[in-house]
Amino acid sequence: MIERFRIATRASGVRRQVFVHIYDDREELARQHTEARNMVYDPAADIAGGVVTQQGFHWPRPDYTPIIVMRLWTGQLTTKTVAHEAVHAAAPLYFMDGIPGWNSRARAHLIGDHEMLAYLVGDIASEVIRNLYKLRLL
Ligand SMILES: [Zn+2]
Repeated sequence: MIERFRIATRASGVRRQVFVHIYDDREELARQHTEARNMVYDPAADIAGGVVTQQGFHWPRPDYTPIIVMRLWTGQLTTKTVAHEAVHAAAPLYFMDGIPGWNSRARAHLIGDHEMLAYLVGDIASEVIRNLYKLRLL
C-alpha cells in the first residue's frame, strides 16, 4: 500500500466513512482484498480493485461504525473504476441506513452481488465525465 485516506458522507443521514487504500502492486491489492473477505487468494483472479465491509456488518443490526475499505490500484485509477467501487461502498450503507432497512428483502441485492449496478454506474459516470472534458466543461 502506498497511500491511504478516509472519506466521509452524511448522505444517508448517518455519518459514514470509507477507508481508501491505494496500491501500486496489483497482486498485493488482490491478496489483501481476497484475504479481507476470508477467501483463498488466487493469483489468476482478475482483481484490480475492490470494496470490503471488514467490520461492523453484524446481524441483527449494523454496528454504528462499520469499516468499509475500498482498495484501488494505481494502474487503474479511472473514473469508471472509482465510480464502480463507490457503488460497492454505497450499497451496504444504503442498506444499513436507507428506507428498505436492515430487515428488508432488499438485503439480498444490497449486500450480495451488485456487479451489474456497479458496472452501469461506472460506465455512465465515466462517459459523462469524458464528454464533459471533450466539451471543455471540466
Ligand atoms: Zn465490482
